[in-house]
Amino acid sequence: MAWVDKDTDTMMLCHFDKDTMLHEIAHLPKDDAHSDAWAKRLWDLQETYLNKKDCQVAHLEITRYLSGRRLYIKKLGEKPPKYEDQVSIWVNTKPTSK
Ligand SMILES: [Zn+2]
Repeated sequence: MAWVDKDTDTMMLCHFDKDTMLHEIAHLPKDDAHSDAWAKRLWDLQETYLNKKDCQVAHLEITRYLSGRRLYIKKLGEKPPKYEDQVSIWVNTKPTSK
C-alpha cells in the first residue's frame, strides 16, 4: 500500500518495492485513480523499469483493477488468470509476547 499527497508533493510507501513505487508514479501525471490511462502508464513504466520476469508478475498485479484487466486483454489478446488477492502475513499472525 502507498499513496501520493499532491498537496505536499510527498509519496508514502508502506511496501518498499519497485512495483509499488511504479504504481504510485503512474498516478502522478493526472489524478485519475485507477483509470484506463493510469493502467497504460503503469504498464509502460513496468516495461521500462522491471526485468522480464518481474514485469510479467507486475502485469498480472494490474489485473486486480478492471482497467488492468481490460489492458491485459488488449495487450496480450487473452483473459488474465483470475486475480487472487494475497493474504497479508499479519492476518493469521498471533502475538508471541510472553
Ligand atoms: Zn493506486
